[in-house]
Amino acid sequence: MDPAKNCDQNRPFLISSSVARTQESHHEYQRQAKNCDQNRPFLISSSVARTQESHHEYQRQATSNTLHSNIKSMTSILVDVLHFLIRCKAAILWKPGMPFAIEEVEVAPPKAKEVRVKIVATGLCGTDLKKRENTNASHLYPIILGHEGCGIVESVGEGVSTVKTGDKVIIVWLPQCGECTACLNSETNFCVEFNQSKPCMMSDGTSRFTCKGKSVYQFATTSTFSEYTVIKEMSVAKIDARAPLEKVCLISCGFSTGFGAAVNTAKVTPGSTCAVFGLGTVGLSVIMGCKAAGAARIIGVDINRDKFKIAKDVGATECINPEDFVKPIQEVLFDMTDDGIDFCFEAIGNPDTMAAAFASCQQRNGVCVIIGWTPDSTPLSIDCHLLMSGRSLKGSVFGGWKSKGHMPKLISDYMAEKFNLDPLITHTLELDKINEAVEIMKTGKGIRCVLITCPD
Ligand code: NAD
Ligand code: ZN
Repeated sequence: MDPAKNCDQNRPFLISSSVARTQESHHEYQRQAKNCDQNRPFLISSSVARTQESHHEYQRQATSNTLHSNIKSMTSILVDVLHFLIRCKAAILWKPGMPFAIEEVEVAPPKAKEVRVKIVATGLCGTDLKKRENTNASHLYPIILGHEGCGIVESVGEGVSTVKTGDKVIIVWLPQCGECTACLNSETNFCVEFNQSKPCMMSDGTSRFTCKGKSVYQFATTSTFSEYTVIKEMSVAKIDARAPLEKVCLISCGFSTGFGAAVNTAKVTPGSTCAVFGLGTVGLSVIMGCKAAGAARIIGVDINRDKFKIAKDVGATECINPEDFVKPIQEVLFDMTDDGIDFCFEAIGNPDTMAAAFASCQQRNGVCVIIGWTPDSTPLSIDCHLLMSGRSLKGSVFGGWKSKGHMPKLISDYMAEKFNLDPLITHTLELDKINEAVEIMKTGKGIRCVLITCPD
């Protein structure tokens, strides 16, 4: 899986921290540049991208030893190397509903306020699955999906100040520009930058990916199903260098979304009764949040009873399958609790279960939080009288976390063993096996499949 292995074997490219080897890299760069077709963009293999490392070492040595003047001119050429395309592997979706195709893609250098990241690990989220089958957006193909990922900064564009080459980072699909009304308001995290003028493109309306001569759309501007990606600086946060990326990638979406919906959006209270519809990574993380907040009862609801054991392992006090009852599930929950549910969460993305979750709330001040995503703007049908008595219906995006700002703290909490991600990760596969991961998720045989793109 190491992209270095994929580079043209006739063009060995040695990268190391010594100046001597930096010179080799430089000569190879010159050789490749000379041989390339002048009418086409000059491609470099992903291993060449690692020239960055030797470049930094070179710069360090250049400022501290007598070689300074001899090698000074080389610096500018090496800087140029850093601004070329990277050729690497990615999982492309050419049409909705088709299997992913592992293809060679070209990843352009980062522009101003952008960062190019070597993706180490990425989870396959329920949103990717829905997006994969979304025939309503068939104009936004080919596309590279994936938004739950972690990696290492390969290079940065002009004006980037919060991360640098070599930093371990977490990708956040919800940006935090730090300047809009949402970013300046502590009660919301929905940064205006999320609503792009041109969907699935970078801020300037273009993509950094091409494949077989075609421009490729970038899902959520993250596109983590690729060995390298380019994202906005406002969508990436530096994290603890010791963090295991194949685990903490779940903090990039599923875990944070669920856990935060309980502790930030609903503000679950000690001793309360909670119900969670949908026991995937998001729903299970809601359960973990409800437990951390001190809920007395946590009822898991899912049509797949294979999820019940793990739900109980992470904190559910009981689990039920709506298919086991003739009565609507909201009536079952009222029977179980007398009074209804204090905090109810929908983590499926189905208008029927959203309405049922809302109807399950106790009438005085029960709170229903909608987390599940639907590919279309589907109408939600609810009885207006249910609202009159004081129930409330809320939405939650990315668990209410200020994305870039809160990520380092969540990672530190993970490192301090305040929560455990292991129960959520049932499969770890290489990126090439992405279609296998889709099958595991679709058939409900696993919770989260983590794909290893480039080993750390
Ligand atoms: P998942 O596919 O792993 O889990 C969904 C679960 O729902 C499964 O266990 C499935 O068996 C269950 N389910 C399906 N239909 C059901 C029904 N009718 N009744 C009861 N259970 C049912 O997905 P996930 O990764 O956990 O994501 C869950 C949802 O959250 C998705 O809609 C996803 O798009 C959404 N999401 C939202 C945000 C956000 O910021 N709001 C972020 C991430 C994901
Ligand atoms: Zn997600």
